[in-house]
Amino acid sequence: MDSYHSFNLIVKNAMICTMDREGRVLRRGSLAVRGDRIALISETDLSRSALAERVIDADGMVLFPGFINTHIHIFQSFLKGLGADHRLIEWLNLSALPYGQIMTPRQHRLAAQLACMEALKSGCTTLCEFFYTNQDPELAHACIEGMQSTGIRSVFIRAFQDTGEEYGMPSMFIEPAEKAMREVEALKKRYRENDMLSIWTGPDVTWSTTEEGYRTMLAYCLSENVRYSMHLKETEVDNEMCLRTYGKDIVDLLEEIGFLTDRMLAVHCVNLTENDIRRFAEHGVSVSHNPAPNLYLGSGIPPIPESLRAGVNVALGTDGAASNNSTDMLETMKLAALMQKGLHRNAAVITADQVIRMAASGGAKAIGMEDRLGSLEPGKKADMILFDPRHLKSFPNHDAKATVVYASSEENIDTTIVNGEIVYHKGVFKGGLTEAELVQEIAVEVEKMRASAAAL
Ligand SMILES: [Zn+2]
Repeated sequence: MDSYHSFNLIVKNAMICTMDREGRVLRRGSLAVRGDRIALISETDLSRSALAERVIDADGMVLFPGFINTHIHIFQSFLKGLGADHRLIEWLNLSALPYGQIMTPRQHRLAAQLACMEALKSGCTTLCEFFYTNQDPELAHACIEGMQSTGIRSVFIRAFQDTGEEYGMPSMFIEPAEKAMREVEALKKRYRENDMLSIWTGPDVTWSTTEEGYRTMLAYCLSENVRYSMHLKETEVDNEMCLRTYGKDIVDLLEEIGFLTDRMLAVHCVNLTENDIRRFAEHGVSVSHNPAPNLYLGSGIPPIPESLRAGVNVALGTDGAASNNSTDMLETMKLAALMQKGLHRNAAVITADQVIRMAASGGAKAIGMEDRLGSLEPGKKADMILFDPRHLKSFPNHDAKATVVYASSEENIDTTIVNGEIVYHKGVFKGGLTEAELVQEIAVEVEKMRASAAAL
């Protein structure tokens, strides 16, 4: 043994589902991490021939790549259940829009810890925050710093709205697109983007963006090489407003101005037409599929098998916890599979393997990190989870992929590793913060938030 063969971490005796292109599965193997990367994967026990600072014996467990949640609104973690049993526009007016105006930086920070800790506990290693409460830059800082404190890999999408008051968008959220792009630039400078934190932007929704707003944002993103995301065709109302304002379909408008590119992540896409799907495939647009809110708000079921067949890259997201009501990636995977099987009356229309790929490599491609994330392969970033099937719900485990998609819950996640660092292990989070302590702090702040809401 010499220093060349020393690692930060070795996970041994695990079943390893690499989710690589060939779908390689090691029935029993070990994986070694050096720094932030996967160094070796072997069918032998690497801990017998090399030194490691830490060795985890994962006997009985399954190693998967970490899942990537491509769409959430973190502040909504304080709003679970508000506006329940209403459709999108009424729900927005009962939850996200009023509460988004009154929440404080401290509440945003705690909401970030709540969402990210639940994400880590449900097998997620990267989270894409779509942030649109831009009335005070301190709120964005609190959110980013809350995310970073948990050790999760973060994409912070500083979105904007430059119109939409007549449709209920609070005036305090509205700003010119030029100002929004200056704020995006300021965030990029302040946080010195790296693989652990990317800064993106994006128009919030069709009805809160002017044509000039799209053009301004696009020019900025193309010149500065910035990725962008937007809510698209979530409900029929979304497109009706576009037809009324611009006299054309939103995808026609976006194509016309050159907005459909491989830097775009389109969220929801419930009402995509065949022609939209064809154009998404042609331009390399990725789709963030969020099954829980599409069902919860009665929005509908997006054409996911059709999009996959056409070659569109599809990733998964939970959306904000006000329309979910959690940040559970395992539940999201199950819903993504079942909703299509039922709709098409065809159990084979989408498989467990495809759903895991949407959550892992689909997410990696959607955020432009497919060379570093999405599968367990030497040279890639060490983002992975240890799944322990030995719980009532998930045992016995005949088929690991079927178990993780159809019979799992947060109790199955034993360990979550991000960028080579163990950030969650057997109930303990990075920094020693416990669920009980966080819940206690949040309870106090939720009371304050309710009092401010009552005074509105
Ligand atoms: Zn959303």
